[in-house]
Amino acid sequence: MPREESRLLPSAHGRDARGLSLLVSRHIPAAAMAAAAFLCARAAAPALLPPSRGLPRRLLLASRATAAALSSSSGEGGGGVEFQGKVGFLGLGIMGAPMASNLIKAGCDVTVWNRTKSKCDPLLSLGAKYEPSPAEVASSCDVTFAMLADPESAAEVACGANGAAEGLAPGKGYVDVSTVDGATSKLIGERITSTGASFLEAPVSGSKKPAEDGLLIFLTAGNESLYKRVAPLLDVMGKSRFYLGDVGNGAAMKLVVNMVMGSMMVSFSEGLLLSEKVGLDPNTLVEVISQGAISAPMFSLKGPSMVKAAYPTAFPLKHQQKDLRLALALAESVSQSIPTVAAANELYKAAKSLGLADHDFSAVIEALKAKAQSSQQ
Ligand code: NAP
Repeated sequence: MPREESRLLPSAHGRDARGLSLLVSRHIPAAAMAAAAFLCARAAAPALLPPSRGLPRRLLLASRATAAALSSSSGEGGGGVEFQGKVGFLGLGIMGAPMASNLIKAGCDVTVWNRTKSKCDPLLSLGAKYEPSPAEVASSCDVTFAMLADPESAAEVACGANGAAEGLAPGKGYVDVSTVDGATSKLIGERITSTGASFLEAPVSGSKKPAEDGLLIFLTAGNESLYKRVAPLLDVMGKSRFYLGDVGNGAAMKLVVNMVMGSMMVSFSEGLLLSEKVGLDPNTLVEVISQGAISAPMFSLKGPSMVKAAYPTAFPLKHQQKDLRLALALAESVSQSIPTVAAANELYKAAKSLGLADHDFSAVIEALKAKAQSSQQ
């Protein structure tokens, strides 16, 4: 099915190597909300590309003439598409760095910026350019991606002093792939579009390894022309993409997914600890779960290290707690009760107070251990 006909369906891509060398076939608590609103209000004053299924390992930067030829000749299962222009990338943390790296490796002309400048160095050695502020990145690029920690930083980088909006203009695009709440995304979108530029929210499902492997899932919403324009870039960084309509829908989808994940991790942690307490081997529990109907890559991936009390960071616990906090606010906005999520959120908060904010979110099990210990005393 052509991608444009399936707004609510994923566009999954084959990962084969056909023609790879040739073509790219191919979401707020009141304080954060007020800060974002302030930043955005203070500052306020594309070409369509054809659908395709194939996924490139390498992006062909073609001329407009080539694009037109491809546009008319390619379709499902057919030729390919390309992206032309310069790509900016703001925020080079656990997720942003490998995403930008994949764009560079695919042949894109990438310009980077990060608050902590040293994190740009590995990207610069891969061939990226550097600009000293988000505004200068956005000004020098056709499309700018942002992968920031939370609503506050996403709003600051987009709308603050020397923020991206100051460098945007008609014809340019801004794609925020951070996980924020819908209200923040809308505020950012309004500031971006006030410059004449286009805005797309595109939070991702998938963690450090999928980011490294170019296997993320993009949950996009906003300007559909920009969505189509950046599709070849999303396809370099991800395995599938959803276009969900109005700004806020991508953010909401991401929060729902992550609230399920956060609760699952707490339930899994309780199971690991209980199995041990009743004399079972928790490693065997991991194995049993992996073979049954509740099997999930997350359990198989994290279980063995959780048994060893090791929590190498792929998804920082502080970000998981942020997502639960935002999901609770989302649920409250429609008067829905999510008691399991509320209980899980308390455990992540307890884990943060134990100094585990920067550990992987699987370290939430330590909050359960601490609770068990204190109830024994
Ligand atoms: P991370 O490693 O903590 O990186 C956060 C990035 O935001 C860094 O570049 C950091 O810059 C920047 N930042 C933080 N506060 C800032 C501020 N006030 N001004 C400017 N920049 C600021 O986080 P991550 O894991 O890459 O996650 C990034 C986003 O993706 C989050 O919204 C997260 O919820 C979401 N996400 C993460 C995963 C995952 O598995 N890790 C998966 C899906 C979605 P510095 O380097 O200077 O600190």
